[in-house]
Amino acid sequence: MGLYPPNMHELPKVQLKRLRYVTNWLHQNNEFFHKKLDASGVSVSDIQSLEDIQKLPFTTKDEVRKLPDGALEWLPEQTVRKHSSSGTTGLATSTCFTDIDLKVMGILGARSLALCGCEKGMTLQVNYGYGFFTGGLIFDEAARTLGMKILPQGGAPIVESLRAMRRFKPEAWCCTPTYAKRTVAHLLKEDDKDISWKIGSHGAEVWTDETRKFIENSFGPDYNAYDVYGLAEKGGPFVAHECEAKGGSHVWTDMLFMEVLDDNNELVSEGEIGELVLTHLYIGGYSTIRYKTGDRVKYIAETGSPCTCFADGYPKMRALGRKIKDEFKIGGEFYIRADFENVAVKILKELQPLGEEIGEFRVELSIEKGTTHVEYCIESDNPEHETIVKDVIRAVSDSTIYRRFPIRIVPKGTYTPSLGKTPLLIDKRE
Ligand SMILES: [Zn+2]
Repeated sequence: MGLYPPNMHELPKVQLKRLRYVTNWLHQNNEFFHKKLDASGVSVSDIQSLEDIQKLPFTTKDEVRKLPDGALEWLPEQTVRKHSSSGTTGLATSTCFTDIDLKVMGILGARSLALCGCEKGMTLQVNYGYGFFTGGLIFDEAARTLGMKILPQGGAPIVESLRAMRRFKPEAWCCTPTYAKRTVAHLLKEDDKDISWKIGSHGAEVWTDETRKFIENSFGPDYNAYDVYGLAEKGGPFVAHECEAKGGSHVWTDMLFMEVLDDNNELVSEGEIGELVLTHLYIGGYSTIRYKTGDRVKYIAETGSPCTCFADGYPKMRALGRKIKDEFKIGGEFYIRADFENVAVKILKELQPLGEEIGEFRVELSIEKGTTHVEYCIESDNPEHETIVKDVIRAVSDSTIYRRFPIRIVPKGTYTPSLGKTPLLIDKRE
């Protein structure tokens, strides 16, 4: 497997060959899939075209979580590292990697970084955590594969991260959008916008173009922010990455086959939203077939409008959040998480003159008397900030529906960011 992906003309042939290999291997060597495939009555001889993947059964997160931890290693004697998801939607999902996984991830990561302008010899500052969560270590693997130098900062305090940036002048940077926004706030307070970063790879949480504009405008015209999407169960951060054209992330479908399905498990059309379903096209420590990620994505095939990057022909997607939790109704009005994020970004911008007097901001959902209740929660040690925040919300909300929710001031430090991620929406309804 080379660094660059097969071209779009060779891709379907490569995918079919790999799909048949993986299906056959899992049936022959893995008890969980042996039973699953036998129960579905489908065998590898039924897979004659890529469309035939729809005959195969799904693998769900709940189904996998019911297995004991040890049963989640398909090749225990070859496992070299164990990781976990960040547990964004509840119980964290554990996963294990073999040398093959690490090699594949290194390559998909190197491609991803090259896609947004990173080159051999450049330096990448890594501000994802180096721990159980896959972010830091897999970005490290990617940068080494591309021949970049690494500045491993992990979830360091912002002041330390900035000090390292000014000392070593890395051209590229990776962290969550939340960490980037906190860095912007700190730079404004310092009144020193001198940064060496030109390229930012931001992901591990849902963010919008509004946030992209905010980060890019704050860091200046030379800075470009790109979306990266991944999940621990599929090798970590590099399932998909944006190229310099932005507007959606190319999915590396030569190694992870993508389906975007509606509620009836039918493929959605170009431009539509559905659940992302991924199939490993190689055998690693924990390869799965038709894994339902639970993530809602917009499918961007871009047929007829070729991309100028080397991933031309690889479909794009934009992550929109969790399937179930990000859509909800209150008093007959329909809300989605991204709407709250847009409002929150605007609020954050307006609150910046207050500097560090204001800490994290989030929206909390709970159940009161059987119906959903929303609260804006802001970290501050000054009770007078409630009035200021109320005015800001009134000023920035495009729609009056966001103004009707109460504001709660909580002491600073209440929301300690975990792994650099401060979830914007806290759902306490379960
Ligand atoms: Zn492209």
